Amino acid sequence: MKLRKVTAASAVVLALAVSVTACGGDKKDDASGGKKIKIGIKFDQPGLGLKQPDGSFSGFDVDVATYVAKKLGYQPKQIEWVETKSADRENALQRGDVKFIAATYSITDERKQKVDFAGPYLLAHQDLLVKKGSDITKGTDLNSKKLCSVTGSTSAQNVQKTIAPKANLRPLSGYSECVAGLQSGAVDALTTDDSILAGFAAQDKYKGQFQLTGLKLSNENYGIGVKKGDSATVDKINKALEQMVADKSWDKAVEKNFGPAQYKNEPAPKIGDIVK
Ligand code: GLU
Repeated sequence: MKLRKVTAASAVVLALAVSVTACGGDKKDDASGGKKIKIGIKFDQPGLGLKQPDGSFSGFDVDVATYVAKKLGYQPKQIEWVETKSADRENALQRGDVKFIAATYSITDERKQKVDFAGPYLLAHQDLLVKKGSDITKGTDLNSKKLCSVTGSTSAQNVQKTIAPKANLRPLSGYSECVAGLQSGAVDALTTDDSILAGFAAQDKYKGQFQLTGLKLSNENYGIGVKKGDSATVDKINKALEQMVADKSWDKAVEKNFGPAQYKNEPAPKIGDIVK
């Protein structure tokens, strides 16, 4: 009996020793062993960044971020996903809440004043989502219509600046709220990237109710946001993105995440190649 107790105790000591070694003394290590990386994504965008009811995460951005994290030395179980809504992204990076952000985050000159970007890794286009049979077929049809978009997005800015300055813009904090508003009739249209809209339109609960207009109202070059000045991380992420395309993981992620929504994506962009 006594012997068994001693054995159990030494097993604990041994386990502790092993986990301390595995941690490598990094202060950020947690009790579960191994360092963690915090990555910002969207939680409510099907096909891109979605938190499932079982707590798991899916989408193209999630797969890109998981691939990149691996190349930075982190296994999937070491990733802590953090929700970064459109209007929070620059702040989250500036505060250091996350190491990087992969959240349908378009590279723009304005944002580049505050954060740095790796990529691009996808080219999307702004489009409109309307109810089936809607008479809205072009951008200017939106003037005087109730239009939902998200605060802090390029989509909202483009509407106000160029597409339909007289639209009655209803800014909300996330696209899932906008889609609910479109279904209830609270708004006449929702505008953002076609990649995002296709994912919503294909959801079971909305199937057959909405249509995309197919208007390519802008070029949205998705980048991975990092803290301003962290050029070492930008370089590593760019290498990872190049590898992801070269080893076909990019194609697989496209097929898996955009296939179900029948989203016709553009080919993989070259690193540093921004389509204006
Ligand atoms: N890609 C656009 C942007 O970065 C719209 C999508 C979003 O809000 O995340 O603003």
